[in-house]
Amino acid sequence: MPTNKPTPNNTRLDRVVAQARRDAEQREQGYRERALKMYPWICGRCAREFTRANLHELTVHHRNHDHDYNPPDGSNWELLCVYCHDNEHSRYIDHISGSMSSADDTTHPAATSSPFAGLKALLKK
Ligand SMILES: [Zn+2]
Ligand SMILES: [Zn+2]
Repeated sequence: MPTNKPTPNNTRLDRVVAQARRDAEQREQGYRERALKMYPWICGRCAREFTRANLHELTVHHRNHDHDYNPPDGSNWELLCVYCHDNEHSRYIDHISGSMSSADDTTHPAATSSPFAGLKALLKK
């Protein structure tokens, strides 16, 4: 069986993945802006306050961990700093891939290259 055959499906898949990621980012921008208008810029866990200067460290958390559930009254949103948000999500394995784009890249250099690193650690327990 030849193993070095070109796989055109891969590039198509790449494009689909890229498109899905763009869609997710756009959707995220939408609810993030709405949540920031609706709520004070304070982390819901550690009560840290935010200004325009460090607003990128304040993220929108979905209370039911479903990024597609965005009721207009904001009842599924909670503003959390990246640290508390990370904490919140470390307990929810199925949410790891969805949280990648919302977290600040610079704070999670290893996370993108190994999305299942945390899963492995959990399985060891
Ligand atoms: Zn916090
Ligand atoms: Zn979240």
